[in-house]
Amino acid sequence: MNHFPPRIRQLIDDFDMLSGIGPKHAARLAFQILSDKARGKRFADDLNEALASVTLCRECQTIAENSLCEICGDKKRDQSVICVVAHIQDVEPLERTGKHAGTYHILHGMVSPLEGITPDHLTIKALLDRVKKNKVSEVILALDVTSEGEATMLYLTKILKDLGVNVSKLARGIPMGSNIEYTDEVTLSSAFEDRKKM
Ligand SMILES: [Zn+2]
Repeated sequence: MNHFPPRIRQLIDDFDMLSGIGPKHAARLAFQILSDKARGKRFADDLNEALASVTLCRECQTIAENSLCEICGDKKRDQSVICVVAHIQDVEPLERTGKHAGTYHILHGMVSPLEGITPDHLTIKALLDRVKKNKVSEVILALDVTSEGEATMLYLTKILKDLGVNVSKLARGIPMGSNIEYTDEVTLSSAFEDRKKM
């Protein structure tokens, strides 16, 4: 990519920084953006506006435009049941099942000793604060079926049970190595309904 002018190289590097893109795909995206000035300008404006307005929901820690996201701000949602997920993008497939009437909590990762991610790197303190403040009756752990997911569930189950709250996890049926984000709606729906008490 060194034969490109510096500003274009920089744009390619910016795309390449995003996970799963890679240098060739990054170059393709950069050329697409640059090939249509009106579209490129709109892309830049949208990105700037999103960066200026975005914040984290003070309750569930998801990305939001106000201090409360739409779900936490919805009075019809049951504040006493929290479904814990690892990533922001895990909420959407669970919402599509229509089985969860409560709220969510985004950990922003999972415990991974190999990658040096300890519980302190996650939003666990905020979760415990919510559990205490909102008289939470049940915490449902909807984490990826991976060794990181299992390690995180073990850790959370212990500290949540110490607070006297019911903890459950999605039923088996989601294959080992699966991410919540890519699990189909039918599997997720029955795993949610048949959740197991820890
Ligand atoms: Zn929220």
